[in-house]
Amino acid sequence: MNKIEHIGIAVKDLEKSNEIFAALFGKPHYKTEEVESEGVKTSFFQLGSNKVELLEGTNENSPISKFIEKKGEGVHHIAFAVDDILSEVTRLKEAGFVVLNEIPKKGADNKLVVFLHPKSTNGVLIELCQEIG
Ligand code: ZN
Repeated sequence: MNKIEHIGIAVKDLEKSNEIFAALFGKPHYKTEEVESEGVKTSFFQLGSNKVELLEGTNENSPISKFIEKKGEGVHHIAFAVDDILSEVTRLKEAGFVVLNEIPKKGADNKLVVFLHPKSTNGVLIELCQEIG
């Protein structure tokens, strides 16, 4: 597992939050993207070699909408860059971690992503991501 790739923050109103985080970071987000299969709209800020991803649910069944309903807005997940996502999944399963989707899915920002259940990682939702191509 390499560096922290990004930190994901669940927000209710992406446009409003884009303004808040632009004011915080002193620069605007560099892209927005909708991942329809996940029911989310995202925006990304670049900070050095790390990113911050804001996520807004686009419907009430979206994992982001459900998260906000339960816990309110805030840090949703931490994403780590990996070189070979399939071998990482195998390694982590063997080590006893609970993998939410063993088959990597296409996430935002041109990445293959796998999530680990927070119950096996001290309450933190972990995303593994591998750049596509
Ligand atoms: Zn993410």
